[in-house]
Amino acid sequence: MIPYGRQEITDADIAAVVDVLRSDFLTQGPQVPAFEAALCAATGARHGVAVNSATSALHIACLALDLGPGDLLWTSPNTFVASANVGHLCGADVDFVDIDPETFNMCPKALAAKLDTAKAVGRLPKIVMPVHMCGQSCDMAAIGALAQKYGFRVIEDASHAIGGRFGAQPVGACAYSDICVFSFHPVKIVTTAEGGAAMTNDPRLAARMERLRSHGVTRDPALMRGAPDGAWYYQQIELGLNYRMTELQAALGVAQMTRLTVFLALRNRLAARYDALLADLPVVLPQRARNVYSSFHLYVIRVVPERRRAVFDHMRAAGIGVNVHYIPVHTQPYWQSHGFAPGDFPNAETYYAAAISIPLYAGLSDADQDIVVAELTKALA
Ligand SMILES: *Cc1c(COP(=O)(O)O)cnc(C)c1O
Repeated sequence: MIPYGRQEITDADIAAVVDVLRSDFLTQGPQVPAFEAALCAATGARHGVAVNSATSALHIACLALDLGPGDLLWTSPNTFVASANVGHLCGADVDFVDIDPETFNMCPKALAAKLDTAKAVGRLPKIVMPVHMCGQSCDMAAIGALAQKYGFRVIEDASHAIGGRFGAQPVGACAYSDICVFSFHPVKIVTTAEGGAAMTNDPRLAARMERLRSHGVTRDPALMRGAPDGAWYYQQIELGLNYRMTELQAALGVAQMTRLTVFLALRNRLAARYDALLADLPVVLPQRARNVYSSFHLYVIRVVPERRRAVFDHMRAAGIGVNVHYIPVHTQPYWQSHGFAPGDFPNAETYYAAAISIPLYAGLSDADQDIVVAELTKALA
């Protein structure tokens, strides 16, 4: 089986994790801060808060921005369900902004139009959460300008996009956003088995997210009500969670981050190779947004919707782990029971009907990629 995505684990990665097992700290030791420092170095962000998943990172990002009942979060319908779920987990309402049919990302024009209407009825979002689909950054300059104009906060769901760039800005630099979130699930670019991080340039948001990942507890006397009872003292000053990343995970992350640029180069090379090898097939290839360096988490082709299922089934039967990203979130039963219906976001639905993610990961060999192309050619014949 050739999977659609796969982690790259070296002996050095394994040694780093084993070293932690022999050390004093399995959690709350030096590896998590070291991983956070590596993320800051790679992105240019001032602060990074590592947690046990991107879902957790999105959740504490929303909490740190005070998203709550009566508030509104907007995200893309073309994403994993977690992006929308965190809004409801905070007690807020959720709505979606349709995608651009070529980039599969939240469309800035659709966002502008929806904001205009929302302003007229006095129901602007508190947070807009663009999703960098496949690793290709959204138009963050346009979204950032709208944030200035309409006064909402921006959380980037960059689960696919570590190592990518928008113009000269690394994804995660938060040049146009308040917080940017990465996922370290094994199918993503860099892995910690499970894991995520929230990057920000705002020291108050970073401190708040650090507290929220650890029960809402502080050891900072300046934040306490009254004086500390002694050196053991802590106070819980708000409601938090245990979203901490372990030292084993962070050590794996530190080792993986040393190869980030290599991972990106390998993925981009394979993507360019697909572009060439698939050029004559009846498929629509990914469009490259101008001014964006994609991390190519996914390589999505589009086929005629009538053939999508047959092509998918052929590939799976041939041992090729194709997948589909994403079923439009608003069509999920949970979201339909909260007022959404098929037809609400037509671009995301049209895209979904045609999309197939074909294998792409740093360790995919040219020979295996040739097998994928050969099977796809048969499937489309
Ligand atoms: C993977 C993913 C998530 C969730 O990441 P976890 O680390 O598994 O919690 C959220 N959003 C998007 C777009 C993703 O691809």
